[in-house]
Amino acid sequence: MTSDYNKNLWNAVLAELEEKISNRLHSLWFQNTELLSYSKDLLTMSVENEFIQQRILENHRQDIVDAVFKCCGDQPELELIIREENKEEQGFFDFEDKINTYWQNEGAKEFPAVHANIEAVKQRVQLNDLYTFNNFVVGPSNQLAHAAALAVANKPGETYNPLFMYGAVGLGKTHLLQAICHNILSASEKHNIVYLSCEEFINQFITSVERGNVEGFRQTFRYIDILVIDDIHFLANKERTQEEFFHVFNMFYNAHKQIILSSDSPPSEIPELRERLVSRFKWGLVSQVDIPTFETRVAIVKKKSRLKGTPFGDGVCQYVSENIVSNIRELEGAINHLLALSDLHKESITLEFAQQYLKEVIIPEETMIQLPLIMNVVAKDFNVTIGDLQSKKRHKSIVIPRQVGMYLAKKLTNYSLLEIANFFGKRDHTTVLHAVDKIKDLRKQDKDLHEKLVDLEYKISGTDSKD
Ligand code: ADP
Ligand code: MG
Repeated sequence: MTSDYNKNLWNAVLAELEEKISNRLHSLWFQNTELLSYSKDLLTMSVENEFIQQRILENHRQDIVDAVFKCCGDQPELELIIREENKEEQGFFDFEDKINTYWQNEGAKEFPAVHANIEAVKQRVQLNDLYTFNNFVVGPSNQLAHAAALAVANKPGETYNPLFMYGAVGLGKTHLLQAICHNILSASEKHNIVYLSCEEFINQFITSVERGNVEGFRQTFRYIDILVIDDIHFLANKERTQEEFFHVFNMFYNAHKQIILSSDSPPSEIPELRERLVSRFKWGLVSQVDIPTFETRVAIVKKKSRLKGTPFGDGVCQYVSENIVSNIRELEGAINHLLALSDLHKESITLEFAQQYLKEVIIPEETMIQLPLIMNVVAKDFNVTIGDLQSKKRHKSIVIPRQVGMYLAKKLTNYSLLEIANFFGKRDHTTVLHAVDKIKDLRKQDKDLHEKLVDLEYKISGTDSKD
C-alpha cells in the first residue's frame, strides 16, 4: 500500500468523522492523527498522547470503524499508537493546554449549576462495607498507620493534617482509608466526606476542563469537609492536575479541613511530583504500612476466613501464612481459592486439603517462569532481538512476536497485565489484553501459528528458567 493511498484514505475517513462528530472538542482529538499502516484487518493510527489515545478508544472506536467501512468497505481492528516524540515528556500537559485554548476561544458559555457537580462527586463515595476498623488486624507492620487513621477518624482536621499513608500494593492502605470514611459517615456529627481514587480526581478534573467548568469543579470542594484521595502517586507527571490539586489542598488546609492521602511511595519518591506538593504532603503525618509479620498474617487469615463464614483451623491459617508472605491481597486470594475448592469438592478445609490445593496458587519464586525467559525464547524463534520486542517498533514482523510474547506471558505466568505491559515497554495494561485477544483469534485461524505456539509453550515450560 502506498503512503499516498494511506493519506487519501485517512483524509476521507477524517472527513467522515468530521461529519459524524458534532462535538467540536472531540473533533480536536483527530487533528494530529496519522494513518501509519492499513490492512483490511488492522488499522494503525498515531495519536499525540495517551490522553487522546484513551479518549478516542473510549468514545470513537466504532465511529472510526464505521467511517472506514463507508470509505472502503473494510472493518479493521484499531490500534492507536502514541507518537514517539511525544511519549515521555509531554503526556497530558500538552493536551490540557490545548483544551484551555479551546475553551478560551469557544467555551465557557455556560456554567452548569454547582450542585450537579456535588452530586457527581458524592456518588463517588463507594465504599467496601468490609473495610472497617473492626475488620482490620493490627500488628507491628501497620500499628502506627492504624493509630493515626483512628485519631483522624475521631477528630478530623484536628490531629494530623494531611495524613499521608504509604506502602506497597496489597498492604491495607485502601482498607484503612475506607475505615476512616466508615467511621466518619456513622458518627453523630455530620461531615461531608469524599473518597476518590486519584484517577477519579484526575478524570473529574479533565471532564470539568472539557466542559469548561473548572470553576464548578473547584466550587465542589468548598462543600466538602473531608477529602480522601487514594493512590495519590498517580499524580506523577500530570502537571496540570497537580496544579489543580495544589489549590484544592491549600483550600482544605487553610480551612483546617482534613485531607487523607495514600500512595505507593513516600512523598519525596513519587516521580515528577512538584516540590511544593512534596513538602505539603509532609506537613502532617507520613506513616508507612509495611509487610505484615507472620503472626499478623495468621490473625488476618483467621479473621478473613471467619468473616467469609468458614473459619479456618490454626494449622491451615499457619500453613497459608507461611507460604504467602508479602501481600495481603494474595493472602485473601488464597483464602477465596480454598473456599471455592472446598465448595466444589464438598470437602472441608483441613491442613491436608490446604496443602494439596494451595500449590496451585503458591508458586515458589525459583520455579516460576520468568519473563526474560519467555522473551528469549520468543525472540530466538521469530528471529528478532529482545530490544525489538521491548521497542515501540510497529512493523508487523515485530508486532506479532511481541504480541505472542505477551500472550505467552499472560498464559504461563502469574504476572499482572501491567507488569507484563511494562516488561514489553508498554505503559498500559490494555495493550496486553489486546495482544492476548489477537493471538487467541489468530491461533484459531492459523494452523502454523497454533503449532508454533504449542512448540513455544513447550520450550518455555520445559526449559530450566535459570539458563
Ligand atoms: P492497598 O490499598 O494497600 O493496595 P488494600 O487496602 O486494598 O491494599 O488491601 C488488600 C486486601 O488486604 C484487602 O482485602 C484488605 O481488606 C486486606 N487487608 C490488608 N491489610 C489488612 C489488615 N491489617 N487486616 C485485615 N485485612 C487487611
Ligand atoms: Mg489501594
